Amino acid sequence: MSSDAATVADAGATDALAEVTAGTGSPPAEAAFTLELNQDQKDIREWVHGFAEGVVRPAAHEWDEREETPWPVIEEAAMIGLYSFEAMGQFWADPTGLTLPIANEELFWGDAGIGMAIMGTTLAVAAIFGQGTPEQMGEWIPQCFGTPEDVKLAAFCASEPDAGSDVAAIRTTAKYDETKDEWVLNGQKAWATNGGIANVHVVIASVDRELGSRGHAAFIIPPGTPGCEQGAKVKKHGLRASHTADVHLDDCRVPGSCLLGGKEKLDERLARVREGKSGQSQAAMQTFEASRPVVGAQALGVARAAYEYALQYAKEREQFGRPIVENQSVAFTLADMKLEIDAARLLVWRAAWMGRTGHKFENAEGSMSKLKAGEVAVWATERAIQILGGNGYTREFPVERMHRDSKIYTIFEGTSEIQRLVISRAISGVHLK
Ligand SMILES: Cc1cc2nc3c(=O)[nH]c(=O)nc-3n(C[C@H](O)[C@H](O)[C@H](O)COP(=O)(O)OP(=O)(O)OC[C@H]3O[C@@H](n4cnc5c(N)ncnc54)[C@H](O)[C@@H]3O)c2cc1C
Repeated sequence: MSSDAATVADAGATDALAEVTAGTGSPPAEAAFTLELNQDQKDIREWVHGFAEGVVRPAAHEWDEREETPWPVIEEAAMIGLYSFEAMGQFWADPTGLTLPIANEELFWGDAGIGMAIMGTTLAVAAIFGQGTPEQMGEWIPQCFGTPEDVKLAAFCASEPDAGSDVAAIRTTAKYDETKDEWVLNGQKAWATNGGIANVHVVIASVDRELGSRGHAAFIIPPGTPGCEQGAKVKKHGLRASHTADVHLDDCRVPGSCLLGGKEKLDERLARVREGKSGQSQAAMQTFEASRPVVGAQALGVARAAYEYALQYAKEREQFGRPIVENQSVAFTLADMKLEIDAARLLVWRAAWMGRTGHKFENAEGSMSKLKAGEVAVWATERAIQILGGNGYTREFPVERMHRDSKIYTIFEGTSEIQRLVISRAISGVHLK
């Protein structure tokens, strides 16, 4: 590890910890939007890029083929401080909001499957951070990461077999057992990244089915809790180094203190909803909204990796006695790829900045960023395959894997159709269904 890397990992860790434990009450940051990155942002970009280039990219093919969680790579990330709540806290603490997408773009430039194995934990962390009390954050966020000697993962479980896009249809229930001050969870979660292999699971469950998504709450399932078991592991098209599985909750009892935000707050919220007033928090949706620009940044990383690979290839590969990049159709495709990727990045950075500085997403800017970046990633990686010709279609060249990986970005965290629905509702004021 270079001393620069150590500085980046350690610098601001104390501040980050303070931020993380200070609670959700911390005011939005005040920072002007600028494309001129400051030194901290540049250092972090370089640091994460170095790890992506030196460790992640060389391991990508192997773990894609193995379809297993790349524990040794996660451990290396933990050793340098990249996989840690201090680093995540530091990325998040940047008042401009840009550091988090920058770090994600660089890591996923290395490889999306391994990137997700490293970053999958952060969805659960975002839920704890967004909805937990300061005590819950202090207790559970460190347990999501473990230590470099004993690395742990976390899982965020919202989706179910019959509740994907339609989050309100969640059937998993949480019932309060007053005699024991425990919550009893029952149901089946689907598609959970790190599901069953996580130390900490954050589960979205319904405490009142009649209230739809406004009757949802988020629960911590502590490590080793009886009644929380992994179901089938999913064999996937892409992102194969990232573990995805069902999670079964069978009379799973957790202490009352595992309800994120606490019972008093939940009771107040439910009472407001029953009176017909705004319920504010919708547990799963809150987590998704905050994370969309970050997910968009991951897609950007994949798109940029494919573009850079294709550009280099087009300069080297000769046909008809000249490099293929000298054909206008190839060069124009590369120009369009660069254009679309840069345009998507502007949307991602805008949404990240708006989210961090407390600007309301009046026109669903978070959804716009994820929609555009996801679709650009699928398109650009497909074009990269075309530029590589037959080689692009083989597993010996990384653009084939990048294309498979890219497809997830039009599906999870809200499909492209759902993002369009959210944007349409925001711009029209019409509650389209
Ligand atoms: C690799 C992977 C990892 C995942 N990780 C997690 C995780 O960690 N935690 C978690 O909770 N979930 C996770 N998911 C689940 C993911 O969020 C869902 O797959 C996604 O929300 C879509 O839900 P669905 O698969 O049920 O599709 P469906 O909702 O059944 O959608 C099927 C199709 O119908 C379209 N559609 C549905 N409703 C509408 C509408 N109203 N208007 C127009 N079109 C519509 C959709 O856009 C889509 O094209 C993961 C999924 C995958 C594949």
